[in-house]
Amino acid sequence: MIGTAGGALAAPWLRVLVFRLSVRSGEPDRTRCPGCATVLVSGRLWRSLLSPSGRCPRCRSRIGPSAGVVECIAAALTGAVAGAIGPRPELLAFAFLALLAVPLAFIDVAVHRLPDRLTLRAYPILAGLLAVAALVSGEPHRLLGVLAGGAVAGLGYLALVLIRPDQLGLGDAKLAGLLGLALGWWGLSAVVLACALAFVLSGILGLALLLTRRVKLDSALPLGPFLVAGAFAVLLGTTGW
Ligand SMILES: [Zn+2]
Repeated sequence: MIGTAGGALAAPWLRVLVFRLSVRSGEPDRTRCPGCATVLVSGRLWRSLLSPSGRCPRCRSRIGPSAGVVECIAAALTGAVAGAIGPRPELLAFAFLALLAVPLAFIDVAVHRLPDRLTLRAYPILAGLLAVAALVSGEPHRLLGVLAGGAVAGLGYLALVLIRPDQLGLGDAKLAGLLGLALGWWGLSAVVLACALAFVLSGILGLALLLTRRVKLDSALPLGPFLVAGAFAVLLGTTGW
C-alpha cells in the first residue's frame, strides 16, 4: 500500500523527467510546450510538476504519455516491488530502480534513447543502496552477486551492441548493466533469465506488430521497456510474488 502510494506520489516528477528528456541526442532539454511555447518545467526537478493529464494546461496540446498512464504504471510497479520484497533493507534500492525504470521506458518509446543522465548517474546510487542493504542485513556476500550481475549484463549487452549496432544502442547496454546490478542480488541465474526474457518479450511484440502491419521488417523496436519488463518479471518471480 505504501509502495503504491509512493509510486503515485512520484508520478508528477516522473512526468517531468519524461517531458524534459524526450529529445534527440545533442538537443537541449524540453522545457516549453510544443503547441503554445509556455514554459512548463524549469529550474530544479523538485520545483516542477506535471499533471496526470499529459496535456499542456494552457493550450491542451499533448506533452507526454496519455492521462493516468505514468501514474498507474509507477503505482503498480512500486506497489508490486514493495509487496514482493517486504520491509527489508534492500527495498529502498529496488523501489528506486522501479521509479527510475518508468521514465526510462517512456523516453525510450518516445525517442529511442536511454539518457546517460538517468542510467549512468544511477549506478553509484543503486550500488550504494545495495551495499548498505547487504551490510545492514548481514549478507555482505550479496555484493559479489551484485557486481557480477552488473558486469555480466552490461558487458554481455555491450558485446551484442558491437555485433548488431543497427538493432541495439549503448544506452541499452548501460541500462542492462544497471538492471544486472540489481538482479545480481539474487544471483547470476536471475540476471541471465531477465536478459533472455527481454529478448523473448521484444520478439513476441515485434512479431505481433509485424503481423498486424504496424511495423516493417527492418524497423527497430526500443529495447529499454523490454529490459525493464524482463527484469521486474524476474524480480517478482524470484521473490515469490
Ligand atoms: Zn501549450
